Amino acid sequence: MIGAGQLARMTQQAAIPLGIELRVLAASDRDPAVLAGAICRVGSHESLDDLRAVAEGADAVTFDHEHVPNRWVQALAEQHAVRPGPRSLALAQDKHHARRTLAGLGIPVPPFELVRAGDVAALERFAADHGWPVVVKAPSGGYDGRGVALVGSPAEAAVLDLGVQHWLLEERVRIERELAVLVARRPSGETVVYPVVETLQQDGICHELVMPARVPPEVARQATAIAQRILDDTDAAGIVATELFLDVGGELLVNELATRPHNSGHATIEAAATSQFENHLRGVLDWPLGDVSMRAPAAAMVNVLGGADGSDPATRLPEVLADPSVHVHLYGKQARPGRKLGHVTALAEDHERALAAARRAAAGLAGAGLALTGGTG
Ligand code: ADP
Repeated sequence: MIGAGQLARMTQQAAIPLGIELRVLAASDRDPAVLAGAICRVGSHESLDDLRAVAEGADAVTFDHEHVPNRWVQALAEQHAVRPGPRSLALAQDKHHARRTLAGLGIPVPPFELVRAGDVAALERFAADHGWPVVVKAPSGGYDGRGVALVGSPAEAAVLDLGVQHWLLEERVRIERELAVLVARRPSGETVVYPVVETLQQDGICHELVMPARVPPEVARQATAIAQRILDDTDAAGIVATELFLDVGGELLVNELATRPHNSGHATIEAAATSQFENHLRGVLDWPLGDVSMRAPAAAMVNVLGGADGSDPATRLPEVLADPSVHVHLYGKQARPGRKLGHVTALAEDHERALAAARRAAAGLAGAGLALTGGTG
């Protein structure tokens, strides 16, 4: 696995009972997956030599992020089973490419246009057609809402600096709910789809989720059909997460894709018969996929962010663990205010109870002076 963050750490947890030996390319030997026992090679995901070295002898190569340059993914794929492959990975790497590809398949996406960064006149023309404010995105490299700006006027556009050469302009969708659909796929084509998840964002970060989503069955069915359709004729393997907007008019639009385990799937560890991490491994290795049905009527997940005082949430575990509905995951990361340090999942008879329990536990772990803004990965 290229990358050794919390997704690789939870993949390592899923690898253990299956006897899979997970080797990671880590930025440091203190990365979350390395602390969880994954075999580690320290190196850069931008170096083809490091990528080749960690891939040597592996049954398959996969990713915990989408930042490996696509040309290196293509080079690796000449000698290794790279899963997902370069074509589907490109959909997660380049938002403009994804928009164009999906629109070409007839899948609804927000109206968009790619312009030169700083081209305020082009942005004004776009706004004349689609209204203010305009959503401006860095086409690649962004995550957790970084690289996304809401621009309300030409003056705001004139001072916008996303540090990129092109801006992806998008119509601002009037969002009723944000949904995510996780599909696991094996290269031979078999797929399984998890119940649709509803994500609740704060400052562009998926901070909470409930599962299954609180939407009519017909909306869930449509969202599932869209997510599956995207996987027709791809080189995807393992988990693919499709993020969707349900707009106030009831229409579903695809926002973005991730071709790896995803924050919106963390509740599957306890809430589904097979976690997204195990199904990612099974898909990547082209093994039969596991049952995705839910093990409770409702689940909720809340991120644990570092509190303002920078203290370690682990020191507050005992008080939180007193609630039997709560499951804690800490990622072994250095505590910093606002940093995503873990998550809590709660299972319950209904969404409200699950969300209340997960919120209480996450707040308890974050401690005094809960910092909700400015997440730092
Ligand atoms: P990232 O790749 O950083 O996660 P996203 O493209 O998912 O960025 O955008 C982050 C958040 O910004 C979304 O979850 C949504 O809340 C909001 N957003 C993104 N695009 C739009 C849009 N076209 N209209 C309205 N809100 C949007």
